Amino acid sequence: MDRIIKLNGDIWQVDLEERGIPGWTAAYFIKGEGNSGWMLIETGPASSAKKLLEAAASIGISPGEVKYIGVTHIHVDHAGSLGVISRYFNNAEIWVHPRGEKHLVDPARLIEGSRAVYGERKMQEYGEVLPVPAERLHSAREGTIIRLGERSIEVWETPGHARHHACFYDRKTRGLFSGDAAGVYAPRLSKLLNQAVTRPATPGPDFHGELMLQDLYRMACSEVRNIYYTHFGAAAPAQLLLELVIGQLSVHMRMARDYADKEDAVQKLGLALQEEIKTGLLNGTAQEIIYDDRAGNEMRLLLEPLFDSADGLLLDLKGKSSV
Ligand SMILES: [Zn+2]
Repeated sequence: MDRIIKLNGDIWQVDLEERGIPGWTAAYFIKGEGNSGWMLIETGPASSAKKLLEAAASIGISPGEVKYIGVTHIHVDHAGSLGVISRYFNNAEIWVHPRGEKHLVDPARLIEGSRAVYGERKMQEYGEVLPVPAERLHSAREGTIIRLGERSIEVWETPGHARHHACFYDRKTRGLFSGDAAGVYAPRLSKLLNQAVTRPATPGPDFHGELMLQDLYRMACSEVRNIYYTHFGAAAPAQLLLELVIGQLSVHMRMARDYADKEDAVQKLGLALQEEIKTGLLNGTAQEIIYDDRAGNEMRLLLEPLFDSADGLLLDLKGKSSV
């Protein structure tokens, strides 16, 4: 699959090849009307900064033309390279939910919290998180409209995945840059299996189940047609994809209740979630999955983070979620 894809409506999707893995994390460049400049959505981890800057150059975007950078939330796989790339795109206003701002300016707690979740090795693979200058930051609050000439990008607060999460809605393409709020999507597996393949993203410590369901209902009842997933790629029709994730999330929350009192609940629930996802894949028309590299990467994206997801589901149930 190509590393840079030009989508309908003057949007470029860039594969950041997170930690060397193709098809895991995307960033998007939106071209404004006329000469009004560009908006970048998502930056990936610090180790992907070079890929992102190379992609901008090959699309033909000069650094001064990037007027805005929006990140859906501050998790390091979405905003970890912001400190580095904001120095290159030094004209750009940076838009992030206000609850994330202070952690971008002083990332010590973000780094510490990420290390607790991901471990030292993965943090090294993500690269060094550098601070973002406070004066560059703008608060992405519900209803904020970011303008690129006639083109309007709306901010939707979506606190279910994390309280510092917001989505960006492009009115022109009726497309939602969903971050982690609408779950993850596996394009190659979807094609191979002839069915949409998704899963919700529910990691601790900030995941809040009821709020995520509300976020998803809101999206499903809206006029959104396309979803631009960070993990991974553009997909449609939005309503079908959202209904699927609503169903999966409801099942995962019920499973968490079933496992909450068991010993080693996180481990056991993680394994059960993996089985649930795998069973779901084969419940369609497929008898077995013939993996290629791409499908193999997507299986990792679907299954590996489910232990973090199990942790988030159980924390939410105990009311320990910090939302
Ligand atoms: Zn996240």
